[in-house]
Amino acid sequence: MDFSRTAAAMEKKGYTVSCFACKEDAARYVEGLFCGACIGFGDSETISQMRLYEILSVKNTVIDPKHLCVGKTFWETARDALTAEYFFTSVNALTADGILVNLDGTGNRVAGSLFGHQKVFYLIGRNKLAPTLEQAVWRVRNVAAPQNANRLKLKTPCAMKGDRCYDCSSPDRICNGLLIQLRKMNHMETEILFIDEDLGF
Ligand code: SF4
Repeated sequence: MDFSRTAAAMEKKGYTVSCFACKEDAARYVEGLFCGACIGFGDSETISQMRLYEILSVKNTVIDPKHLCVGKTFWETARDALTAEYFFTSVNALTADGILVNLDGTGNRVAGSLFGHQKVFYLIGRNKLAPTLEQAVWRVRNVAAPQNANRLKLKTPCAMKGDRCYDCSSPDRICNGLLIQLRKMNHMETEILFIDEDLGF
């Protein structure tokens, strides 16, 4: 896929951008950046598919809500990840002109992406690209969230029917905070890693 238009738009907004042919190449690049660092993860299927917890844990402290810290709950582990030097996450959609869109149930993912770290890294597969903001929000609500709910085996109509969002009031609802990030946040380095594979939801 040609990421060049989106990459150029994001560089103009202050992001650092790197492009990779496959997740293995991206993982090797990331592995080479860190030794002895404290790295937090937002809940991300893309990160899991890249096996970054296993790769980065060899030389660093990695705090990942998918791998609970010893004696800690999900909430405590996710909160600890917010105080890490570096933060890794993905997006649910990205517009052609470089607007990042994320939908979150608990808030740890969007909170970690906005403030408090030395640097944030977004790992983004080609399936996340959407031409416009309207199409990106549609994708987030009707594709990414139902697939996530299905993966988590939640009792929501989207997980059971698998076709679209029903704007439910289920106790299991995972769609509460919608973040539309127009440009890079001030005073925090942010790198976008485009990967030419379908990754995550
Ligand atoms: S609001 Fe409810 S139905 Fe819609 S995607 Fe989220 S969990 Fe599924």
